[in-house]
Amino acid sequence: MPSAMSDYISLRRTKIVATLGPATDADDELEKLLRAGVDACRLNFSHGKADDHIARAKKIRQVSANLNKEVAIIADLQGPKIRVSRFKEGAIYLKEGETFILDVQHPKDAGDETIVGVDYPNLHEDVKAKDYLLLDDGRLVLEVIEVKGAQIFTNVIVGGKLSNNKGINRQGGGLTAPALTDKDKEDLKTAVALGADYVAISFPRSAQDMQEAKALIQAAGGKCGVIAKIERAEALDVIDEIIYASDALMVARGDLGVEIGDSELPQAQKYLIQRCRTLNKPVITATQMMESMIDSSIPTRAEVFDVANAVLDGTDAVMLSAETASGKHPAKVVEAMARVCVGAEKHRGSLTSGHRVECRFEGVEEVIAMSAMYAANRFSIRGIIALTESGITPLLMSRIRSGIPIFALTRNIATERKMAIYRGVYPMNCAKEFDQIAKDDTFACEVLKSHHVAKKADYVLITHGDLAGQAGGTNTLRIVQVK
Ligand code: PGA
Ligand code: MN
Repeated sequence: MPSAMSDYISLRRTKIVATLGPATDADDELEKLLRAGVDACRLNFSHGKADDHIARAKKIRQVSANLNKEVAIIADLQGPKIRVSRFKEGAIYLKEGETFILDVQHPKDAGDETIVGVDYPNLHEDVKAKDYLLLDDGRLVLEVIEVKGAQIFTNVIVGGKLSNNKGINRQGGGLTAPALTDKDKEDLKTAVALGADYVAISFPRSAQDMQEAKALIQAAGGKCGVIAKIERAEALDVIDEIIYASDALMVARGDLGVEIGDSELPQAQKYLIQRCRTLNKPVITATQMMESMIDSSIPTRAEVFDVANAVLDGTDAVMLSAETASGKHPAKVVEAMARVCVGAEKHRGSLTSGHRVECRFEGVEEVIAMSAMYAANRFSIRGIIALTESGITPLLMSRIRSGIPIFALTRNIATERKMAIYRGVYPMNCAKEFDQIAKDDTFACEVLKSHHVAKKADYVLITHGDLAGQAGGTNTLRIVQVK
C-alpha cells in the first residue's frame, strides 16, 4: 500500500447484518452492537412473538437516533420450513437401519421411536421411494422406502438424536410448499407496521413468490424492499428472474447447503454474488460465518477465511445469526467480523472491477455512475459524493469494485436506511443542507474532510441531478479539488 495512504482512514465497505434476539435485548447490548459497526438489524420471525419484534424495532430506532446512525431493519419471515412435530419425551434417538415413519396425520405431540407427525400436510404427496430426507440441517438422513396414504416409511441412513420441531429438507429440493404461509402473511403486516426497510422471504421458488410478497406489502401500505433468501435448489434454476423481482438477495447457506449438498455451496455462493452484481442488486451472505463465536471469544481461522472469501467474492454484506441473537458476546463478534472485512478489502481483488464491461447502460444514472467509477478507479480521486433521492446512483456505483468511499447524501430517510446494505456506500442525511449542497461544493468537501477521506487540494468526485428533489435525476458528474 502506498505510504501516502496511511494519512487516510480506511473505512469498512462490507456491511454487517446482525440478528437480534435474547442476547441483544439485555441492557445496552444493542447500543454496543451498533457502536461496533452493525449496519442492518435482522428480526427473525421464526422465533418470538409479534410484540417482541415490535419492541426490538422501536429500540433500534431509538438507539440509532441517539447514536446518529441509521440502520436498516430486515424482517425475516419464517417461510414454509417443513418440520417434524413433537415427541412425547421431547427427543428420540434414531439408529441406522431402523424403520421410521413420518405421518402427516399423526397427533402433533405424540411422536416416539417409530413414528412422528409433520407440520406440512402435503409432504406425502411431494416425496417418493428412494428420496433422501435430511433432518435437523442434514444431521440425520432418512431414505424413503414407500409412501402409504399419509404415512412415509423410511430407513434410517444416518441416525442420531432427533428433538422437537426439527426441519426437514429433501435432497435435490422439490418440496412444493408455497413460500408465504398464513403465519408469514400475518408477520408481513407486523413487519410493515414496525417500519421494516426490507422483508426477507424464506424459500421462494420463483419470481412469482417475490411478486406476491411485494403485492402483500403494498396492500398493507408498506414500502419495504424484498429480499429473496436463496435456500431451495429450484430457485437456482430461475435465479435471474428472482433477482429481477427482488430488491436484494440472501445466500442462505444453511438450508441451501442441505438441499444441494455442502460441496455445491461454495460455487453457488460465488455464482449468486456475481449474478447480483451483474444485475445491479445487493447481496447478503449468511449463516455460520462466525459460528464458533456463539461461545468462543475469537473466530476460528476457517471462519476468518470464510468471511474474507465472501468479501472477495464481492458480497455487499455478511450476516450474523445465532452469533449475535443468542451468543455469549454479540458486540465482540461484530468487532471481529468488521476487522476481518477491513483486512479482506485491502486485497487487490477487492479494488478493481470488470463489472458489466460488455453491457450497454440502461439509463442516464447508470452512465453517470459507471463513468464516475471508471474515472475514480483510474485517477487519484479520494472520495465520491453522490446526491441522491432514490439511492439508485449509489447502488449502481457500488456494483463496481473500488477502494474509494461513496458518500450518499439524501434527504429521504427511507433511502438512507435502504442504502445501509450497499457495499462501499456511506448514507448520510442532508435534509437540512440539501438546497445549499446543490449550489455549492463546500458542504460536500467538508463531509469528506470530516471523515478524513480527503484533504485540501485532493480531488473528489461529485454526482447530482440538476433538478434537486427528483428521483432518478442524476445527470451530472464533476471532479473538484478540495479547498
Ligand atoms: P434461516 O435462513 O436462518 O432463517 O434458516 C438462513 C439459512 O437458511 O441459511
Ligand atoms: Mn433458512
